[in-house]
Amino acid sequence: MIQNVLIIKNGIALVDRSFGQCYSLGQDSHLLASFFSILQNLSLEFIGSSIKSLNISNKKFFFYKDHIDSTIFYVIVSDIEDDSDEMKFKIRQIASLFREKYSNYLKDFDGNITYFNTFVDLLIEMKLAQKCEDHSCKECSVIKNIRRNKKKLISNLNLIY
Ligand SMILES: [Zn+2]
Repeated sequence: MIQNVLIIKNGIALVDRSFGQCYSLGQDSHLLASFFSILQNLSLEFIGSSIKSLNISNKKFFFYKDHIDSTIFYVIVSDIEDDSDEMKFKIRQIASLFREKYSNYLKDFDGNITYFNTFVDLLIEMKLAQKCEDHSCKECSVIKNIRRNKKKLISNLNLIY
């Protein structure tokens, strides 16, 4: 299952989303984007090829550079146990979807990343990714309940007024 998607253009994170609170990679997506970009550049420089995947702790990171638009760099994170071939297939699908949907914005990219906010919803819709909280993760369901209770509290307050 895909835990995170990061789409980076020239070191800027256009898309940065975790599919569950439990998958969070921290707050600073730009730092993370720079880290991956530097890692790729070093690999190209010293080894002559880019990194396709990387295991860190219980996560697997997959990298993909679009050959059609080489300024864009895709990263997905999965569980270490997920099938690598499936993830490599998915990252290509994500890349071609992204290119298809946003080619106009990307051509004259003005630095505004809000255009890309709905992309992850498309990935969920197309069943390329799923939210963790819809399954049985303890951490995410606790957060979901807190959110639900907060909403209930707010609607109760509205009734009082
Ligand atoms: Zn979760």
